[in-house]
Amino acid sequence: MSSFATRKCVRHVEREAVARCPSCGGDFCRECIVEHNGRVLCATCLAKSVAGAGAAQDATPWRRKGGDAAVTAACVLLLWIAFYGFGQFLKALPPDLHEGTVWRKAVEGAGNGEDR
Ligand SMILES: [Zn+2]
Ligand SMILES: [Zn+2]
Repeated sequence: MSSFATRKCVRHVEREAVARCPSCGGDFCRECIVEHNGRVLCATCLAKSVAGAGAAQDATPWRRKGGDAAVTAACVLLLWIAFYGFGQFLKALPPDLHEGTVWRKAVEGAGNGEDR
């Protein structure tokens, strides 16, 4: 019975397999196999089992969704404040600026300066 000795880890071809994962049936080396709750599983199956078992009570997706909503709300609020502030700033500007006379004066002044 030297068949087991010749088995290699499915992830590490150069390494000898020390155990077989009961879930996927693959042979794995010491590094790839993990003991979890009295069961020996490969890292892939362990991740799957942990994800499946923890999905019910894990509130991370909900929390993440709530976080996204909060971030979106904060962004909208910030944008609204920015636009409101900009509106107030425009209102506070002197009427001359709205009519463009300030700019026209400046342009005319510059033109006159160039002419003479
Ligand atoms: Zn497995
Ligand atoms: Zn391995």
